[in-house]
Amino acid sequence: MNTKELDDKYIAHSYGRFDVCLTKGKGSVLYDEGGKKYIDFTSGIGVNSFGICDEIWRDAVEEQLGKVQHTSNLYYTEPCAKLAKLLCEKSGMKNVFFSNSGAEANEGAIKFARKYSFDKYGEGRHNIITLTDSFHGRTITTLAATGQDEFHTDFAPFTQGFKYCKANDIDELKKLATDDVCAIMFECIQGEGGVNNLSVEFINEIAKIAKEKDILIIVDEVQTGNGRTGKFYAYQNYSLCPDIVTTAKGLGGGLPIGAVLFGEKLSTTVTPGSHGSTFGGNPIVAAGAISIVERMDEKFLADVRAKGKYITDYIKSIKGVKDISGMGLMIGILTDKNASDIAKECLKNGLLVLTAHKNKVRLLPALNINYNEIDEGLKTLKEVIEK
Ligand SMILES: *Cc1c(COP(=O)(O)O)cnc(C)c1O
Repeated sequence: MNTKELDDKYIAHSYGRFDVCLTKGKGSVLYDEGGKKYIDFTSGIGVNSFGICDEIWRDAVEEQLGKVQHTSNLYYTEPCAKLAKLLCEKSGMKNVFFSNSGAEANEGAIKFARKYSFDKYGEGRHNIITLTDSFHGRTITTLAATGQDEFHTDFAPFTQGFKYCKANDIDELKKLATDDVCAIMFECIQGEGGVNNLSVEFINEIAKIAKEKDILIIVDEVQTGNGRTGKFYAYQNYSLCPDIVTTAKGLGGGLPIGAVLFGEKLSTTVTPGSHGSTFGGNPIVAAGAISIVERMDEKFLADVRAKGKYITDYIKSIKGVKDISGMGLMIGILTDKNASDIAKECLKNGLLVLTAHKNKVRLLPALNINYNEIDEGLKTLKEVIEK
C-alpha cells in the first residue's frame, strides 16, 4: 500500500486532505513523493515560522537533543526558563505556563480567568464573553468558547459559561458585560473564522469595559502571535494591555508548544498544583522556540510588514478579488470564486494556500519567505484566480 492507501485505511477520518504526500523541502519550497515542487504559502498553518528545515532552528533542536530530551516538570531545565524570559520581555507579560497546543493554552487561560474571579469575588462570576466567528480549539471547553454554531453540534453537553457577542458590535458587548462575567476572550484578527480584523473601536471598547468592571482581557494569539502580523503579538498593534495571552502555532517553529502568558493581575492566581502538563515546556521544543523568538527583532518584524504590504499590493491588482483582510503575513482574500476550488487549483499548479470559513483564501507564509518565492507563488495565485 502507498502512503495514501495506508492513511485512508489506518488514520481516523477527521481530516479532508489534499491529494498530495509531501516528503521534504527547504524554506518555502516543498516537494511531493513524485518530486513535484510547491511554493508554500501556508507554513503548516502558521507553524513553520522560519520555513522548512531552517538551519538555526534545527541546530538548536539538535543540540538539545544531544543533552536531555525530557525531565518532567519536577525539575528545572534551562530552555523553558529562558524561553519564558524572552516571551515576557517581548510582550510585557509577567510569567508563563507552557502547554503543547493552542487549545490547551486556551484551556489554561479559561481556568485561571475563572480562578482569578473566584479568588477575589467568590462564586457566580465565571462567565466568559467570546465572539461570533471566533475559533479557540477542539476540546469540549474550547469548542464551547468558539463562537460558531456549527461547532456546537454532535458532542453535547458542552462546558457552560460562555456568552457570544457579535464581533465588532459594541452595543451587544455592553449588554453582555454584566456582573456574572470574569473575562472577554478574542482574537484581534479571527483566523479560522475568515481572517476578520476586529475594529479598533471595538477593541478600545473591550479595554474600557474590562477596566471599569475588573473583567479580564484574554487575547488568543495562537495564530496571530509570534511575529505573524508584523508585531510580536497582534495586540501590540492596538492600545491594549491584556491580562492573559495565549499562543502556540508559530512559537515552536514546527514542534508542538503552547503558552499562557499571565499579566500583573494574575500574579497570585496560579498556585502550586493548580495546573500542569507532562510535556509542557519540553526542553527540545523550548530550545527550538528560543531560536525562533530571539530572531524576531524590530528589523525582522519590519520585514514581515513590508512583505505583507508587497503581497497585498499585488493581490489588489488581481481581477476578481473583492476584498483583502488581515495584517502582516496573515492575509485573507475574498473572490467571486469558491475558495476551496482555488486552493485545489493552486495545488495542481504548484502552490499551497489555505482557506478560512468557506469563502476566503488564506495565506500564512513563513515569515522569512524570500521575494523570489513570493513572486513565484503570487504569479500562480493570479493565474488561478483570473482563470
Ligand atoms: C489553531 C488555533 C487554535 C487551536 O490550536 P491547536 O494547537 O490546534 O489546539 C486556537 N485558537 C486559534 C486562534 C487558532 O488559530
